[in-house]
Amino acid sequence: MQERDWRPESLTAQGLGWVDPSTQAINPPIHMSSTFLRTPGYGTERAYIRDQNPAFEQVETLLAKLEGGAAAAISASGMAAATSVFMSLKPGDHVVAPEMMYWSLRNWLVTYARDWGLDVTLVDMTSLDALKAVMRPGKTRLVWIETPGNPLWSVTDIAVAAEIAHQAGARLAVDSTVATPVFTQPLKLGADLVMHSATKYLNGHSDLCAGALVTKEKDAHWQRIVEVRYQLGAIPGSVEAWLLFRGMRSLFPRVRQQAATALDLAQRFAKHPAIAHVLYPGLPGFPGHEIAKRQMQGGFGGMLSVRVKAGTEAAKATAARVGLWQRATSLGGTESLIEHRASVEGPGSPVPGDLLRLSVGLEDAGDLYDDLDQALSGGNALG
Ligand SMILES: *Cc1c(COP(=O)(O)O)cnc(C)c1O
Repeated sequence: MQERDWRPESLTAQGLGWVDPSTQAINPPIHMSSTFLRTPGYGTERAYIRDQNPAFEQVETLLAKLEGGAAAAISASGMAAATSVFMSLKPGDHVVAPEMMYWSLRNWLVTYARDWGLDVTLVDMTSLDALKAVMRPGKTRLVWIETPGNPLWSVTDIAVAAEIAHQAGARLAVDSTVATPVFTQPLKLGADLVMHSATKYLNGHSDLCAGALVTKEKDAHWQRIVEVRYQLGAIPGSVEAWLLFRGMRSLFPRVRQQAATALDLAQRFAKHPAIAHVLYPGLPGFPGHEIAKRQMQGGFGGMLSVRVKAGTEAAKATAARVGLWQRATSLGGTESLIEHRASVEGPGSPVPGDLLRLSVGLEDAGDLYDDLDQALSGGNALG
């Protein structure tokens, strides 16, 4: 690939066009080495795998490019990426996060992070007045948002949240796992950090665990985050980093197709007699639709939830009857997943019992509709 200002789709499809200089291979080699040779004078470009793994370089360069950031860092998981942001702060610092968000991170914030001394406030992030009200100028260091947010797909206005955070002297970090850089670039809307569970759409094949952070500036806070990754060792393996880079090559067509099918299903299920409510940012009646239209370009993502009219037991029975949808947690893979979220989150979960979370894969939209339709109607699954 010649150096030029190619579009993100082209850069991603060719993995930046990177060619191995020693073999001309159009895919990068995997260097299975934990350490690197020093010159007799003790000079070194790389010293040790926990700090500088060559397998991270291409994927981090590509991610920084796609998000419009100054640098990126991949980690062992989305949770490792997210927690490293909070752990780069100091005990006593105030942080604000959404009341409704990815469950494991919310759990960590209200247990470990609080024990460790972070002053954590959870707030309804769909109301930016509520966010404004809990900000403590000079004391709040970080505002964390997730948009669209698990599992109601609630939308937060990134530009406004950034303004509120910055007015108080805080940074804005965005969990953009569900939006993906295909539809939203939070840094361009004013955010300081973007986080991804690369386990999900970035890799897209449900076969690895990884996380990623992208920063707008290579500032002191970013240096601390990268140090936390290095010191705690929350790095992915070289093979995972390679697989992630491989999976990302199909990011654009995959995610666009998933979003098109999700929109089609959302529209059709909105008229289904057994469904009380479809939660999807792409539906005109959805509370965050207008904001989503502004900050998501070209699609509204592949995640939606449906609330079953007959209640919790009927929702569980529906998930038990599917034949094509796979009953499993996670999201963003090529296979469609269905999940009774309240059961997975357990006691204390704020998720309604009648809700089924759907991750739309790459199957035929008609097959996905028919299968869930028969499951809702109490029919027999084919598989
Ligand atoms: C899965 C997920 C995470 C956590 O990522 P892991 O890779 O599982 O650690 C964080 N945020 C969102 C929105 C997720 O879907």
